[in-house]
Amino acid sequence: MAGNKTFTMIKPDAVEMNNIGPILAMINNAGYKVEALKYMKLTKEQAGLFYAVHKERPFFGELTEYMSGGPIVAAILVKENAVADYRKLIGATDPSKAEDGTIRKIFAKSIAANAVHGSDSDENAEIESNFFFSQLERF
Ligand code: ATP
Ligand code: MG
Repeated sequence: MAGNKTFTMIKPDAVEMNNIGPILAMINNAGYKVEALKYMKLTKEQAGLFYAVHKERPFFGELTEYMSGGPIVAAILVKENAVADYRKLIGATDPSKAEDGTIRKIFAKSIAANAVHGSDSDENAEIESNFFFSQLERF
C-alpha cells in the first residue's frame, strides 16, 4: 500500500521569485497537510549529501551549487498516495515538458532551476524527511 507522506523543497529560484506563498497554496489546495516546515539555506556539502544519488551525473556540480545558492523551504506533506500524487502536481523535471497547471510548468525557469523537489518513493520520502527534520519538529 502506498504511504501517506512525501518530502518537498521549494528551491532557490522559486524563493527568489517570491513564489513560496503561491506554491504552498497549490499544495494546500491539492489536499496536503503540513507535518513539518522550515526555511533554511543548505551548504554545498549538504546539497551534495541530499542529492548523493546523482553524484556521478554531469550536472552534479551545477545542481549542488544551485541548491546551496539561496534559501529553500523544506516540508513534510501528508495525504493519501502522497508521493505519486505530488509528482503529478509538480510535473516533469524539465518544465518545458511539464503539463499545464503543474507547479513546474507555472513556476520553473529551467531543468536545473525547476522550482520544487518531490520525493520519488515512500522509502526516499522517509530518508529525506529524516535528513531535514527531528521528531520535535513534526506535528
Ligand atoms: P527532484 O529530485 O529535484 O524532485 P526530479 O526527481 O524530477 O527532481 P532528478 O532526476 O531526481 O529529477 O534530478 C534532480 C534534480 O537535478 C532536478 O530536479 C534538477 O534540478 C537537476 N537536474 C536533472 N537533470 C538535469 C540536467 N540535465 N541538467 C541540469 N540539472 C538537472
Ligand atoms: Mg529526484
